[in-house]
Amino acid sequence: MTIEKGLEHGYVLITGASSGFGAAIARRFGEAGAKLLLLARREEKLNELRDKLSGESIEVVPLVCDVREEEKLEALLKPYLPNISVLVNNAGLALGVGSTQNVDMEDWRTMIATNITGVAFITHLVLPHMVERDRGLIINVGSVAGTYPYPGGNVYGGTKAFVKQFSLNLKAELLGTKVRVSNIEPAASETEFSIVRHKGNESRASEVYDGWEPFTADDIAETVYWIASLPERVNVNSIEIMGTGQSFAGFSIH
Ligand code: NDP
Repeated sequence: MTIEKGLEHGYVLITGASSGFGAAIARRFGEAGAKLLLLARREEKLNELRDKLSGESIEVVPLVCDVREEEKLEALLKPYLPNISVLVNNAGLALGVGSTQNVDMEDWRTMIATNITGVAFITHLVLPHMVERDRGLIINVGSVAGTYPYPGGNVYGGTKAFVKQFSLNLKAELLGTKVRVSNIEPAASETEFSIVRHKGNESRASEVYDGWEPFTADDIAETVYWIASLPERVNVNSIEIMGTGQSFAGFSIH
């Protein structure tokens, strides 16, 4: 299986490529020989990945940037915009698990700016060029938290509900073009996600994965690659992925 004909010539832009899902997605597309634009804040991680992949891949460009820095983002991406075939809007985070009345407003601002405004801004930069070329694929990384509520999910779940509806609205608007949009909604997977959510408390972070086997970042990467490999006539609107060892909670009564 190879990346869909027509997409293989342009760049694959992956945000949040320095760890977890994004790094695995970069490795998967790199193995297939795609040209990669890898965006995140941690330069050393991006450089490591570039050094590892550039032998196998045609071109790997680290773009060190915070998705909240709009001017810098625009300047960095400008030279590549006419040539981006696949955009993976993956950069994102959850901060905290506290109840709304106890949370730090700054955590909410960070999640909204990264998971909502960042996704909207990058899409707004990249999409016009895809529409003009009448070709392209945007894969947004949402979450099951955008569909199913849980205590402590408050704004994080809200940001992923945005990603879900934004993806569907784009799909509606893009009718008549060959530009495709997908929303991947993963459940729990062991990346740096939980460490970030628990603000560096590794033992609390790892409790989430105690005693069961979550799916891996490579499983998500394979799914993203599969979506990009499908013929242009196929649009995967959304796909929900959950570990075999995870399931839903019922309604609660107090
Ligand atoms: P990681 O913490 O391992 O990766 C997050 C990535 O996002 C890192 O590369 C980080 O890079 C980047 N990032 C975070 N904030 C910014 C920012 N402001 N600007 C640029 N890059 C940023 O977690 P995952 O790989 O698990 O998360 C990837 C996506 O998957 C997220 O959107 C997350 O919400 C979603 N998700 C994760 C689940 C899980 O259980 N792991 C479940 C459901 C969804 P850097 O710090 O270098 O900037």
